[in-house]
Amino acid sequence: MNVVIKADEQLISKIKQHYGKEINFESNIPYTQFVIDNDNFKIIAYNSNKVMFQGKDAAYEAAKWDNDLLEAEQLNNIVTLDLNESIGSDEVGTGDYFGPVIVCSAYLNNEIASKIDMSLIKDSKILTDKMILTMAPEIMKHVPYELSVLDNVKYNEIQPKNNLNMIKAKMHNHVLLKLMAKINKTPQVILDQFCPPKLYFKYLNDVDEVYHDIIFETKAESKYLVVAIASIIARYTFLLEMDRLSLQVSTPLLKGAGPQVDLQGKELVKEYGEEILDIIAKKHFKNTKKILEN
Ligand code: MG
Repeated sequence: MNVVIKADEQLISKIKQHYGKEINFESNIPYTQFVIDNDNFKIIAYNSNKVMFQGKDAAYEAAKWDNDLLEAEQLNNIVTLDLNESIGSDEVGTGDYFGPVIVCSAYLNNEIASKIDMSLIKDSKILTDKMILTMAPEIMKHVPYELSVLDNVKYNEIQPKNNLNMIKAKMHNHVLLKLMAKINKTPQVILDQFCPPKLYFKYLNDVDEVYHDIIFETKAESKYLVVAIASIIARYTFLLEMDRLSLQVSTPLLKGAGPQVDLQGKELVKEYGEEILDIIAKKHFKNTKKILEN
């Protein structure tokens, strides 16, 4: 698929900055400023400042630079497989210092899909919080789903003894089985891949019941409608949990794990003591060290 966006100088320099070393300024394609070519996508920036995205991740990459375009183009790229029903599974919160980890599995078939405004469905990472908060409740009315919420207290308790991917694998397996029991069916499962499938199943070695028939795919939330829906529900639940924790500490907790988060962490420790991190943060992140130093 091809996606073309019209950029300006400013956007062109942002694009250059983003792809850095991947950029080839010496392409032999005529009238081009630069080309980026890898296994998943190809980007051609023309002298006219038109930028063309090609390849399987074209829409995903293009959407980073043009939100409107996402609505028009990416939807054509999102597929439900050639099936009339499927389950998608995704998780959120693993990159955020504050807040829980949430895994969601969602089920979709043609009939349910017809009840949802599909023009709204996108990768939850690209949607704003406000959009998620508006659209998720409507989706959740129609779509069968199951959630697993790992709060910070529990997370900090089990994380030191378990690899994070193992924790995620167990959460995914748990919600998948729960959802299949709920809908009483075993449709094709698509899981947003966070580790190689072999490892995923290795992590589940000591689990009694393991669901095996899974398609693993990276960036699945931008390729499969059903995974996009799971990610929206997971994100929505994460936002609600963040609100709840924010109320506890009387300040809106920041997402991510950047320097601002460290500053906020320091403030919170000053006010509530070190123990507050046990209940609002993922303590093994490097942020903890920075927050607690001096
Ligand atoms: Mg994911």
